[in-house]
Amino acid sequence: MAQVHILYGVNVVLPPNFSSWSHWWESKKGKKLSKCSNIVCNNEATTCAHVQREEFNDSKWHVVPLCEKCSTKRGSFFVNDIDLQEIRT
Ligand SMILES: [Zn+2]
Repeated sequence: MAQVHILYGVNVVLPPNFSSWSHWWESKKGKKLSKCSNIVCNNEATTCAHVQREEFNDSKWHVVPLCEKCSTKRGSFFVNDIDLQEIRT
């Protein structure tokens, strides 16, 4: 698992040919959104958030599926590593 925090107020340009970041994530992962990635949450994911990992001074940005409630979280929380999709710019 990975400790992350949500990046608020960032303006990341959605790559062409995608309707949303959820669509982009589904395309990259080859699967549909299902569970919220927060390991202590059992809700269905409804959106995708931009996050940064707390460990290793990792400055890369990732997209991760979250439910509506978790997508407004402040501070750090744990998600499943496999759900993180790095944004390569
Ligand atoms: Zn959640």
